Amino acid sequence: MTSTGQEPSIFTRIAAREIPATIVAETERIIAFEDIAPQAPVHVVITTKTQQYANVVELAGGDPGLMAELVAVAAGIAAERANGQFRLVFNTGEAVGQTVFHVHAHLLARTGPGTPAGDSSLGEGSLAFR
Ligand code: AMP
Repeated sequence: MTSTGQEPSIFTRIAAREIPATIVAETERIIAFEDIAPQAPVHVVITTKTQQYANVVELAGGDPGLMAELVAVAAGIAAERANGQFRLVFNTGEAVGQTVFHVHAHLLARTGPGTPAGDSSLGEGSLAFR
């Protein structure tokens, strides 16, 4: 159980090293790891260590500083791996494909320079906008 009485989410268990993942960045309050089912050449999940916010709306309202920290971690990873050009997707609600109700962003990017902005390899499957 977490301090809020919820069962630990899969992302909480990754942060606790109970479930293996390829962790690519970590701060005191944020953790980022490779998505297990990548839908773009760079596909990193960035989440808060607390699971008290189910989605981006709750996070932005509840702790804007933590939201800014999450975006800064995304930007840092994209600077290292994708020339600083990226998409940040927050699925919000089951109807648009949210499956884990612990706020997280999908960082989607191409590796290497000169990526066309409309490249269809960014965001297939549930991250494609249909
Ligand atoms: P969403 O559908 O927006 O809730 O995103 C959840 C994401 O978490 C999906 O892209 C999954 O592929 C990813 N995911 C689920 N379990 C794991 C895991 N054990 N390690 C890494 N990524 C995961």
